[in-house]
Amino acid sequence: MSQKNIRNFSIIAHIDHGKSTLADRLLEYTHTLSPRELREQTLDTMDLEREKGITIKAHTITLSYRTKDGKDYTLNLIDTPGHVDFSYEVSRALFACEGALLLVDATQGVEAQTVANFHLARERNLVIIPVINKIDLPLANPERVKSQLKKLGVCKDSSEVILASAREGKGVPEILEAIVKKIPPPPGANHLPLKALIFDSFFDNHRGVIAYIRVFEGVIKPGMKIIIMSSGKEFKVEEVGILKLKRYPKESLESGQVGYLIANVKNISDLRVGDTVTEKDNPTSKPFPGYKEPKPVVFCGIYPAEGETFERLKNALNKLRLNDPSFTFRPENSPVLGPGFHCGFLGLLHKEIVQERLEREFDLNLITTAPNVAYRVLTSDGEVREIDNPAKFPSNKKIEAVEEPFIKANIITQKEYMGAVFELLERKRGKFLDMKWLDTSRVLLTYNVPLGEVATKFYDELKSVTRGYATFDYEHAGYKEADLVKLEVLVNGKLLDALSVIVHKEKAYLKARYLAKKLKELIPRHQFAVPIQVAIGSRIIARETIPALRKDVTAPLYGGDVTRKKKLLERQKEGKKRMKRFGSVNVPQEAFMAIMEEEK
Ligand code: GDP
Ligand code: MG
Repeated sequence: MSQKNIRNFSIIAHIDHGKSTLADRLLEYTHTLSPRELREQTLDTMDLEREKGITIKAHTITLSYRTKDGKDYTLNLIDTPGHVDFSYEVSRALFACEGALLLVDATQGVEAQTVANFHLARERNLVIIPVINKIDLPLANPERVKSQLKKLGVCKDSSEVILASAREGKGVPEILEAIVKKIPPPPGANHLPLKALIFDSFFDNHRGVIAYIRVFEGVIKPGMKIIIMSSGKEFKVEEVGILKLKRYPKESLESGQVGYLIANVKNISDLRVGDTVTEKDNPTSKPFPGYKEPKPVVFCGIYPAEGETFERLKNALNKLRLNDPSFTFRPENSPVLGPGFHCGFLGLLHKEIVQERLEREFDLNLITTAPNVAYRVLTSDGEVREIDNPAKFPSNKKIEAVEEPFIKANIITQKEYMGAVFELLERKRGKFLDMKWLDTSRVLLTYNVPLGEVATKFYDELKSVTRGYATFDYEHAGYKEADLVKLEVLVNGKLLDALSVIVHKEKAYLKARYLAKKLKELIPRHQFAVPIQVAIGSRIIARETIPALRKDVTAPLYGGDVTRKKKLLERQKEGKKRMKRFGSVNVPQEAFMAIMEEEK
């Protein structure tokens, strides 16, 4: 296939606007997969993806397409994960393309991630083909979406917009023709030194690390000695080929092509997304700019629950990391929770995914602490320390200044919920930056907000104050100084380090009172009274007492239905599994999450 008959493109959209379903239709229309191989959202292969109905990993597939006038093309489709946590993957995937389909749901209109992805694609100078999807739905309003796209600067003329229904296959032929006509063929030449971008990688038990690459210049073939430019590490190419759900080995991958690379690499951190591959004996002089290690921004402790072992957890974390190099963990000994790990994630969804995989794929019983961000602390001895675990936050006396990470948040909502969003952002210490009307009823609000304030339950709260009519996306916006203090919790007179939390001074009292009250509800009664205290340094600012237990829990049910009693006992047993013994007090998992909440 000649280079001018190749098109590399991606599908970008807000979550649920139909990317994976459109990918299915493209696979079907081009006969890339047999009907037997096709199921719904074929490219979402992970169990969790299928369950949650979202794309977590980006996927890549090569389609063969014959145009209406009979010319053959190779189309490389890179499906992208839509969620903010994985925006680095989206941006790398876009780097591998010359064009993108920007998909918008005809009933929902432009959403926060539509805007974010559109900006990413435009920064990369990609040709953008706007597509309005789900026009089969009765509430579809393509005219309204067209005008939003114009307002946003996606297109000048709404005649450029293709109307489609990924469910029914409408618009698919037009989309394929537009890909060939509007997106340019990949540049680059085969005679140049090899220059290939890794835009995805994963671990395979049999073959080691498999990298998905886009060749920009030169040719890569088995036997070649390659180097990874950010690390200088050397490998020998074992196999290259193209992807059609399965891998199809080829003699080589040439300039402009997209495919996979296997080189007997055992450690996934050796073939990281964003890195450049070149030939050892004839290296390119210009690696891709801007390679960056994805940096964890949300942290939490993961500990074995009662009856679980540290060794099993450690083993599972090591195995999981083979597949996901972007989460980090280090052993940490909590005086309360015992030996465990402090882990870092790209965001909250990422945290949830890792946690769920640990519990499901490795059948672990875990206690996790509430998520937090990393702070920069300047101590009185002139040292700057990055602290990602509140329990390790130095005592307030020693601190000169504290900086916390900020984000720039884009929120799209309806006119009638603007007030509620203003109020919520005010509570989250947000600073208003800008607002832009997308049409008469929808508005795009931009805020600066501390990441720590949104790293907890922000998204749920946003959805609840807007009855679901708001979407949210963000980019990182550096560190800023803030007046922060550490709250510590004492249960039965002992410091429960895993409940330490960093809060803004103005919120400290409210938070402390709420926390004490909440813990009183969540920690079960014992044979003795249990005092709960919340302190800043040595000053107690809130206290509650859990009264001693008097009756048998099942007592109120005596004489009642036996199965109900059994159920209650079972539920108690279940509850016990997720407890941690702390001295003589049992603390349930929910208590560790209580610090995420706040009184409204
Ligand atoms: P993604 O998150 O962008 O990959 O979205 P999915 O492809 O997973 O689709 C989200 C939901 O929208 C699924 O329930 C699809 O069946 C549905 N969907 C996708 N395209 C269409 C369409 O054209 N019409 C209708 N009615 N539903 C669609
Ligand atoms: Mg999807």
